[in-house]
Amino acid sequence: MESQVTTTLIDTPGFSLAQQQYLQGFFAGVAQRGVVMPFVGHTIGGQITNNPASGLVNQAAEEAEPTWFGTPLSDLCKEEHWKQEENALDIWDKLVAHANEDKAPAPDDLFRFKFHGLFYVAPAQDSFMLRMRVPGGILSSHQLRGLAQMAADWGSGRADLTTRSNLQIRELQPKNIVRVLSKIQDLGMTSRGSGADNIRNITASPITGIDPHELYDVAPLADALNRYILNSRDMYGLPRKFNVAFDNGGAISVVADTNDIGFVAVEIKEGHGIPAGIYFRVLLCGITGHKQFATDCGLLLRPDQTVAVAAAMIRVFAEHGDRTDRKKARLKYLIDKWGVEKFIGKTEKLLAFPLIRVPASASEPRKPIDRAGHIGVHAQSQPDLNYIGVAVPVGRLPVDQMLALANIAETYGTGDLRLTVWQNLIIPNIPTAKLEAAKTAILAAGLAFEAGTVLSGTVACTGNKGCRFAASDTKSHAVALATMLDSRFNIMQPVNLHVTGCPHSCAQHYIGDIGLMGVKVGGEEGYQVVIGGGSDQDQGIGRELISAIKFSDLPPVMEQLFHSYTTQRNPEESFLDF
Ligand code: SF4
Repeated sequence: MESQVTTTLIDTPGFSLAQQQYLQGFFAGVAQRGVVMPFVGHTIGGQITNNPASGLVNQAAEEAEPTWFGTPLSDLCKEEHWKQEENALDIWDKLVAHANEDKAPAPDDLFRFKFHGLFYVAPAQDSFMLRMRVPGGILSSHQLRGLAQMAADWGSGRADLTTRSNLQIRELQPKNIVRVLSKIQDLGMTSRGSGADNIRNITASPITGIDPHELYDVAPLADALNRYILNSRDMYGLPRKFNVAFDNGGAISVVADTNDIGFVAVEIKEGHGIPAGIYFRVLLCGITGHKQFATDCGLLLRPDQTVAVAAAMIRVFAEHGDRTDRKKARLKYLIDKWGVEKFIGKTEKLLAFPLIRVPASASEPRKPIDRAGHIGVHAQSQPDLNYIGVAVPVGRLPVDQMLALANIAETYGTGDLRLTVWQNLIIPNIPTAKLEAAKTAILAAGLAFEAGTVLSGTVACTGNKGCRFAASDTKSHAVALATMLDSRFNIMQPVNLHVTGCPHSCAQHYIGDIGLMGVKVGGEEGYQVVIGGGSDQDQGIGRELISAIKFSDLPPVMEQLFHSYTTQRNPEESFLDF
């Protein structure tokens, strides 16, 4: 195939020096090797295309049926037809028209609006839900205050923290959607690609950069990948959604093993044929809703290679993933079909450097993860600075608490905040002399920072108050159960209760110590109960305890379960072992 080198689509002035080095080094290497990159206006899979991001149809053979990413149009599922007919990145006029007419979108536009983070959630609610992008979960007090204002003026008066270290705002009327998108741009934020078949919010260890135990600060990597995606149109419209996480190898997990790609920092000592130092292992194909964790694919990367490898892997997935059957369109199914070596081989062809295979056993063992490290007061790696992990029950954050947290972050810290994958929030950079005042202010805002309660370890998806798939009112039920358990038991160790409304498992019920999945029981709201799940060093898929039970019958069962656990377990035993 004729080699052709693309131009970069990166807005390099927006990058730190380190990020520019990562990306420019990557592209310089690409140019040297003359590697074909499947970028806009270039060659994909040997087929001549116009614009792979905006709807290309193969024009190479006039007689042949046109294709979309190698699939004949007649075989595409309906979502792929919608992508092929109109690029969802090019619908600003349509968004304005919908806002002016204050109307609900048709099904094809409803799908396209999700490319902009706008979810029309009828029949649960006759309005839009906005999902942001908060790369690495890092946001400023200014941004949190702006989002609070938006939730107060146009939304439901609160934000919901999500399990991808992200924020959602509900009950936005169609007439306000352009105002909403404009406002978040004013805040230096975006919602682009947070829904539909795109790369979701890039997560990172929530205390990266301030973690005394970390191996590598992954915030710049998460930020660099996020900016790369935002500036590369061919990174949108994948076969299905795609999750990427960066783990700093430190004290708090980012549940990297639940992502399509998880990069995990490791230490390599002398004696493995490569210089000793900090590298990243690559985990592939985590989908816990399908009861599968991401597994180590045998690669070892330098930190400056991670963004390029993520981009290359995503491009291989975009080109070869299944576009006929939504149930088989995640990365897992491509790798199940090909085997991991073929996938890595295709990835390597898009890179300017060879990929190094080193067995996972060469890495030094990870230090223990502190399961309660995201709640409470903890010392940072910087002298005399601390962070406070604030418990936000099931991620519900009313506007007054959003504003209070923004003020606390500014008054006692540096104005930075971190979101976690447990629907909680961290305020970093608080000098020791200001700790007591910051704690008092958090309590005054009606929030808590105590670890060791069931409520602080409880996550719940939207549930039937805002999602049409839900069988149950997950958030209300989760708070009621956790509050009841906290009033009766003093567990003194982290217990994660994950409550999800349907098999899509947005709250990842299979990795909770206790997982509940909404089901209808005789027409009433109820749950399947699983126990013993975990991630990282406690990795395990929860096993079914009860296949279906009405919510009204659940509290005494949970009480009995906790009673047995607290009276019969060994001191070190978790629900995973129990
Ligand atoms: Fe909706 Fe199901 Fe996701 Fe809950 S798990 S938010 S019910 S899709």
